[in-house]
Amino acid sequence: MSLSWQRCSPGDARGPSSCHKPLLPGDLALRLLENVPQSMESDAALRLGFAVLDRDGAGVLASVCLNRVGRLGRVSRTSANRLAGLIGAHELGHLLLETGRHADTGIMQAGWAPADLRRRGLVQPGRAAPVGHVVAVSRSSSTMGS
Ligand SMILES: [Zn+2]
Repeated sequence: MSLSWQRCSPGDARGPSSCHKPLLPGDLALRLLENVPQSMESDAALRLGFAVLDRDGAGVLASVCLNRVGRLGRVSRTSANRLAGLIGAHELGHLLLETGRHADTGIMQAGWAPADLRRRGLVQPGRAAPVGHVVAVSRSSSTMGS
């Protein structure tokens, strides 16, 4: 297994060539998106991240919406960086488990509202911290799922 971080910008043809290569089966990519527009979703249903899976549950791309995670961090007085890590782990879990389903306990639980975070004990209340301003793609080659 290898891990690499790439700073990619949409439409930036000068970025590393790996930013423009298609993801392949066996790759796992975690994309950190800086500015995902607000949508028609209610705040309660606002997605903090997502994983793209096909009908068979296979997928290679998970995403974390950093601006939304940052907002949750401020609202819940929780470290946005820690939340971003938890959301990334959750979304990568969907790829590794090859399912969009959620569990009753643990990192694969659904629900990331402030009350959910306190109830689950995933984070400790503390001073809000800003989330980093990095857009990166982790591209990992692995034999998992192949
Ligand atoms: Zn989920």
